[in-house]
Amino acid sequence: MNTSTHMHEDFNALSDDAFRLRFRSWLEKNCPDDVRRPAHRLRGKRAREWFRLLYENGWRAPAWPREHGGMGLSIPKLIIYDEELDRAQISRTVDMGESHLGPTLIKLGTEEQRRRYLLPMLNCEEWWCQGYSEPNAGSDLASLKTRAEADGDHFVINGQKIWSSFAADATHVFLLVRTSTEAIKQKGITFILADMSTPGIIVKPIINIAGEDDFCEVFYDNVRVPAANVIGRVGDGWAVSRSLLGMERLYIGSPRNSQIAMQALQAMGKALGISDESQFADTWAELSLELHAVQCLYRETARALGEGKVPENELSMLKIASTEHFQRTTEAMLELAGEYGAIGTVPWGRDRIDMRQLYMLARPATIYGGSSEIQRNILSKRLLALPNA
Ligand SMILES: Cc1cc2nc3c(=O)[nH]c(=O)nc-3n(C[C@H](O)[C@H](O)[C@H](O)COP(=O)(O)OP(=O)(O)OC[C@H]3O[C@@H](n4cnc5c(N)ncnc54)[C@H](O)[C@@H]3O)c2cc1C
Repeated sequence: MNTSTHMHEDFNALSDDAFRLRFRSWLEKNCPDDVRRPAHRLRGKRAREWFRLLYENGWRAPAWPREHGGMGLSIPKLIIYDEELDRAQISRTVDMGESHLGPTLIKLGTEEQRRRYLLPMLNCEEWWCQGYSEPNAGSDLASLKTRAEADGDHFVINGQKIWSSFAADATHVFLLVRTSTEAIKQKGITFILADMSTPGIIVKPIINIAGEDDFCEVFYDNVRVPAANVIGRVGDGWAVSRSLLGMERLYIGSPRNSQIAMQALQAMGKALGISDESQFADTWAELSLELHAVQCLYRETARALGEGKVPENELSMLKIASTEHFQRTTEAMLELAGEYGAIGTVPWGRDRIDMRQLYMLARPATIYGGSSEIQRNILSKRLLALPNA
């Protein structure tokens, strides 16, 4: 079913070069200045305006199938799409609707649910956040305790979520709730959607170490949600939330952030006139080689996913390698910046770089989407056949 007002052209019919040039020239003409390397992560109204512009011009939802209003790009074209965003220095903006919920609905939602939710997600009339983690259920997510009890054709939700990114900006939330405590803990979980304006939902922003209020605590106090908002079957939420894990970890493992940090490091080296000095050249060579390895792993993993495989080990390795490289690069930047590192945005030659913000963005990357320790546990068991930690 076509959930969009129109179906996009088949970009996969274009050669890779022709597609690259089309997107590049559109970005050059249309991308607003504040979207390119913004001083702060785009969010709220400004993020929605940017995604709406992409939508109106046919550049929205690159991975969604065309019949659902996306661009339907093949994996090689998706990589080009990302490379052009990097080239234009557009930093990553979280859009949980497009990246998480939309593909889940396309795969596992009913036709009615797709008709109701996909178009407002694409045109940004509705904006989503993710309510999975709880104070005692992060790495061990299956221990979540937020309850949903059936009451006629509704569920009544009570509990607390935490670290819900951009919940204060969201109109809707997709969340995991416990509907049964009888079976093993993964079994009694249900995936459900809620309107953030429903009485009983209270959002409290958390100020992080960078001084930003990106994520929130969200309290659910007798929140009545229609049973029709359940995605998949009641009790199957664990499988529903896991169905897209491969794409999510590929997205988080993308070397995009590392590339942005490397561009900044290079600009700093040039501005300081030390590009050829041995200490800088050593650091640069080491980080460049590591980045090349991450890029190769990313392409191989993306290709395997495109062929319908789920390369679990590669996804875990990619998550670790990409996020830890991002951290090392931003650490090298701060060390080079000396006293300027604490200031915020500083001109380095023709570039204006906020090293502090890049550094702060890199810190949590080894936590969200499954921490480095958890990924190493997975690899030690699956790849090295070591016993449980
Ligand atoms: C920037 C950011 C955005 C986020 N956005 C969202 C969001 O939008 N929605 C949402 O639901 N959640 C979100 N999260 C939460 C994220 O999913 C959790 O932080 C993550 O799953 C880790 O859980 P935790 O914070 O409870 O840490 P814990 O699970 O308590 O872990 C604490 C430390 O112990 C380590 N550890 C835990 N278990 C083991 C083990 N078995 N072996 C070895 N080490 C272990 C971890 O690696 C970590 O270093 C976000 C987090 C961050 C940082």
